[in-house]
Amino acid sequence: MRKPKILISACLCRIPCRYDGRNSAFDSDTWHLLEDSFEPVATCPELIGGLPCPRKPCELETKSKSVKSSDGQDLTKNFKLGAQLALNICKNYGIGIAVLKSKSPSCGKGKIYDGSFSRNLVEGNGVTCDLLISNGIKVMDENQLKVFIHGREGN
Ligand code: SF4
Repeated sequence: MRKPKILISACLCRIPCRYDGRNSAFDSDTWHLLEDSFEPVATCPELIGGLPCPRKPCELETKSKSVKSSDGQDLTKNFKLGAQLALNICKNYGIGIAVLKSKSPSCGKGKIYDGSFSRNLVEGNGVTCDLLISNGIKVMDENQLKVFIHGREGN
């Protein structure tokens, strides 16, 4: 039986696409459990939106909905483009679930940094997370995924 495809933040899949050129990979147990049930489709909205790697860290200002880099560049267009392309991938492949990296200005779900570059978290979603949710995609962060798949394992 074919496994359903699932969209995953590329940095969770060992791809070194974070702003600092590193990854945020899952532990191998979680990865194997994920692969048992799903076919992962790795996507980095910031790279497909045209940003380089490495790059300056960015934060989303939740009130203005603009994304700025730590050196003051407004990169909102890149973030919106990356979000739209990630949504297109979901639509083209019939993907209904996404697992996105927490706290990121693109991928974060529920809590993100507040735009002041002072490590202050506020309620909100990253640009891609927000667009996927508003288009009916079920989004989990990596911590929710672990609870989800380890829960399935125990059934
Ligand atoms: S945009 Fe998403 S996938 Fe890309 S590095 Fe940031 S958190 Fe990871």
